[in-house]
Amino acid sequence: MKSYHISILLFVLILSSGCNDQYRQLASEKKAKNVILLIGDGMGLAQASTAFYFQKEEPNFVRFPVIGLHRNPPSEALITDSAAGATAFSTGYKSYNAAIGVDADSISRETILEIAARKGKSTGLIATSSITHATPASFYAHVPHRNLEEDIASQLPSSPVDFFAGGGLQFFTQREDGANYLDTLASRGYVVNPQKLERPGNLSLEHKYGYLLAPEGMPKMQEGRGDFLPQATQLALDYLGQDKDGFFLMVEGSQIDWGGHDNDAEYVIQETLDFDKAIGVALDFAEKDGNTLVIVTADHETGGMSLSAAKVRMQSDYRHINPTFSTGGHSASLIPVYAYGPGSGFFMGIYQNNEIFGKMLRAFRLK
Ligand code: MG
Ligand code: ZN
Repeated sequence: MKSYHISILLFVLILSSGCNDQYRQLASEKKAKNVILLIGDGMGLAQASTAFYFQKEEPNFVRFPVIGLHRNPPSEALITDSAAGATAFSTGYKSYNAAIGVDADSISRETILEIAARKGKSTGLIATSSITHATPASFYAHVPHRNLEEDIASQLPSSPVDFFAGGGLQFFTQREDGANYLDTLASRGYVVNPQKLERPGNLSLEHKYGYLLAPEGMPKMQEGRGDFLPQATQLALDYLGQDKDGFFLMVEGSQIDWGGHDNDAEYVIQETLDFDKAIGVALDFAEKDGNTLVIVTADHETGGMSLSAAKVRMQSDYRHINPTFSTGGHSASLIPVYAYGPGSGFFMGIYQNNEIFGKMLRAFRLK
């Protein structure tokens, strides 16, 4: 009798809960035609918080109605690298550190980008690292170790990536096997620009586009990278947005991680502010489009960064922030996930990093 009363009470609670209504609306009433996944490599909560303290404008992070947290240990350790982290997002499998698009047994697993392409969607990848670096590579390549960047490059021409922009030219042109993979890209229908992010006169889905704008990583913001990341994001959206079947786009702010490894707060801040601009471009598109899910997250935190108070004569000065770091490597903290648009409700709560794969597929109605 008692449990009967409890069931009734629960039922009434669920029916009357406004939160539940909102969840239904966010999660399941509408299908996402497009998914934009933005990954700030090494961007824990402290790094993202710098966008609230070190620029005058309101950060684009405030535009997300849904926030969750992901747990990110890889298959064989407590702290992940970017390869296992991105492979968890891209394939749904927890794998070992250094794994690119393969599971813990080194078996290749189909990625969200490959699935989206198989279902007729267009696809894009943008990074401020080389396009063969761990994070972007995990969406199109399948190799047992992230250091195999020439092998990763050789897999790009036959991948279903329609648009890519980043660095990494040397892995296509100055290779140990002497091959020139720019030629291979051209023979596979890519219009490749190794000079600058130039908008083609006729930006058409009949072509594929590649921009390889640095030998390895792109320059730092502090070295004059300028608006590459937000502009490449805009260009990709102008191109991919033409597909009536939708698209999948991954945009990486790669160097937030590199600033963390260097324990260089200014490096982290400038890369985070740049990433925030790219987030704004994605959200502007999604607001206008109405059928686009935008997810922002990181693979892990880097540097054990803390927004500490400045120290003046051994005292904390609470009026000023002087970021500090606790490690030159990655840390184990849970990582925020910010979501906007149809299916965003799936991203509430606390879950494993590899569940993000299934959540994106569910938003797409491909699962
Ligand atoms: Mg990365
Ligand atoms: Zn790192």
